[in-house]
Order: sequence, then C-alpha cells, then structure tokens
Amino acid sequence: MDKIPSFEKDHDLLQPGLHFSTLQKSVMTLDMRCKKPNAGDFISPAALHSTEHMLATALRNGPQKEHIIYFGPMGCRTGFYLLTEGLTFREAAAALRGALGACMQMTEVPGALRRECGNYLEHDLAGAKKEIAAYLALLDELPAATWKEEDARAEAAFAAARREAKV
Ligand SMILES: [Zn+2]
Repeated sequence: MDKIPSFEKDHDLLQPGLHFSTLQKSVMTLDMRCKKPNAGDFISPAALHSTEHMLATALRNGPQKEHIIYFGPMGCRTGFYLLTEGLTFREAAAALRGALGACMQMTEVPGALRRECGNYLEHDLAGAKKEIAAYLALLDELPAATWKEEDARAEAAFAAARREAKV
C-alpha cells in the first residue's frame, strides 16, 4: 500500500502550530496541530469531540463559510484537519483564527443533542475552550518566519498546480 502524505512527515519533528499539509486538486489541507506528537500530552476525547462541533459550526457560519470543505479531528488527538477550497494559506489561517475566537464566545456545544450526535454524552465545553484558548495563544506566539515558511510551502504547491493545469 502507498503511504499517505500525512504519514510521510516525521512526526517527531512536527511542532504544534498551523501547517500547510497538502493541495489535492483544488482542496488545501491544513494541519492544525495543537499538541506535540508523542509527547504524552493529548487532547481528551471529550474536549476533542466538543472542539470539533464548535469549530466546525464557527467555520461554517463564518465569513469564509463557502470555502470550508471539511473540519475534523485527528484520531491521535493531537490536532485537527481543516480542508478549504479557494483560499490562500493566509486566508485560511485568518478564517481559522476568527472561528477560534467565535468558539470562545460559545456557551454551549452546538449539535450536542442525542438526535444530532453519535456520542452526545461525551462532551466538554470547558475543556474544549481551554484547548482553543491555548491554541490561540500558540498561534500568537508563532514567529513570523514560521508563518512565512508555511505560506511559502502553500504558495509553491499552488504554483505547481497552476503550471500543471496549463499543460
Ligand atoms: Zn458529535
């Protein structure tokens, strides 16, 4: 079996932050990495689940909602994947930041009724907000060089896709 791109990244080198992952057809995948992989600190299942509900709702109601393809958690509980279409890396990052801010205003987990969710008892609003606040702080502390690097990787992928579309 072929390895999928996200498995080819050396997870021991992967730092928490927001990473450009792939551009497939016109869909960009961003790696929203909240925790350092394999470092013993993981998002709890309940907080992960609630963050999924909250951020998916905020993204799909935000100003870039037309460009949100998917948002969902990583099974390893160290982060989430955001899939967008028609946004640059910086635009997607700005949409995510806005949505994270909207989550901090939430007083309940959206879609957490029994009929709306497959595990409605496993939620943790306070735990999710704690993770979201920590991730926002982490984004604020990322050096400009890191943003530039991720942006450049995304732009290179977009440029390659444009070249491929022409031939
Ligand atoms: Zn659910």
